[in-house]
Amino acid sequence: MTYDDDGNHYGFTLSDELIMIRDQVRRFMRDEVKPIEDKLPHDATHCDPADEARLRGIAEEMGLGRLNVPAEYGGQENDCMIRCIVNEEASKCRLGGYRPALGAIRRGPPNIIWRGTPEQVHKYGIPCVEGDMTGYIAITEPTGGSDPRNNIQTRAVKKGDKWILNGRKMWITYAGVSDWGVIFARSREAEDGRPPEITAFIVEPSFPGISFEPIPVIRPLYPYEITLDNCEVPEENLLGEVGAGFGVAEQWLVAGRMPYAAGCIGMAQEALDMACGWVKQRSSQRGLLADKQAIQWMIADSETELRAARMLVYEAASASDRGENAKILASACKLFGTETAFRVVDRAIQMFGGMGVAREMPLERWLRELRIKRIGEGPSEVHRMVIARDKLKNTDGGVYFG
Ligand SMILES: Cc1cc2nc3c(=O)[nH]c(=O)nc-3n(C[C@H](O)[C@H](O)[C@H](O)COP(=O)(O)OP(=O)(O)OC[C@H]3O[C@@H](n4cnc5c(N)ncnc54)[C@H](O)[C@@H]3O)c2cc1C
Repeated sequence: MTYDDDGNHYGFTLSDELIMIRDQVRRFMRDEVKPIEDKLPHDATHCDPADEARLRGIAEEMGLGRLNVPAEYGGQENDCMIRCIVNEEASKCRLGGYRPALGAIRRGPPNIIWRGTPEQVHKYGIPCVEGDMTGYIAITEPTGGSDPRNNIQTRAVKKGDKWILNGRKMWITYAGVSDWGVIFARSREAEDGRPPEITAFIVEPSFPGISFEPIPVIRPLYPYEITLDNCEVPEENLLGEVGAGFGVAEQWLVAGRMPYAAGCIGMAQEALDMACGWVKQRSSQRGLLADKQAIQWMIADSETELRAARMLVYEAASASDRGENAKILASACKLFGTETAFRVVDRAIQMFGGMGVAREMPLERWLRELRIKRIGEGPSEVHRMVIARDKLKNTDGGVYFG
């Protein structure tokens, strides 16, 4: 067993560098982001652009501004462990992972742009790091997001030096407020038992035939529906090879699952820590809440589950950083991290009683956010299916049935 400098013990040793980064992010959130947040309305998703620019400047000075950028493009390499550590800490603030907080540190576009041509990287990727440009990824459609390989109905047809896109995308985060996005479309139908061919395209809001409509949901940051009506995309905006789209998407999705889970764990850890502070000073039936067994069990279960979820994230992230195929571990992280975090925040609300659902507290906002996290990036059922299929395929029955 090893210990970090807060006295937490881990079966997993965080390097000195990771501990330093975690502490830097923690200080940044406490000293710079929280004072700004404290002045914002409860459901704010952004702050004053001047404040955001100042946060970005501070993050850059601290050396935290380019964690999401590959070294060949002047960044600090896109190391999954670092992204997880950063996400966990950054998500502990009320804005929980939104642009002013997390965006200041992990500046950068959706990571699949780094797989583009040098021209695409310089046109779309670098301005997200050095300027204010933002991007989105649009895979999901009204026909269903759980099985995109078969459910993507948006069609892409080549006409001269352009591709013509027709279809609709649903639930796309940041789509209506971004400078560009990546759309996944069918460039060839399924045939001879083979799935349809999916290709990725970079689109801009100024392209003819593209429009956006916000979809109100339970969290303040609304996703968008995108309509593509004979949308014209120039040939040079093809991202990757024709037909390679699903490989591009899957790589992006798998790489995002560990930091996604880590962010959820951060929110839940903060909720649990807040609840511990509360029950140590709140009384009922002539005794502190902290002394009641019912409360202690909620605390014990929550702390245990969060540690297990964090270990899973570290295991998956380090496997990914070693270049191993982390697909199954990433599904396990996403499943267990999001489900655990939701349960823990729900218990924290219970311990707070009425105060738990008060809008002056971040807890109810985190609960709404975590409700989405159990659906976005693949619902829990789909990750269970992926893990179970792999287990059944690779396990022979153990000692008795093998
Ligand atoms: C707020 C928000 C933001 C989002 N942002 C983006 C984004 O930026 N880009 C993007 O591309 N997508 C985005 N999504 C879409 C998200 O990835 C999909 O909602 C998700 O993949 C599920 O797809 P669906 O909603 O179509 O549900 P369906 O695919 O219709 O599934 C409905 C339910 O059926 C169950 N289910 C599905 N398949 C199975 C199965 N095989 N076995 C058992 N049960 C199953 C699950 O419980 C699932 O929740 C976002 C969604 C939300 C809510």
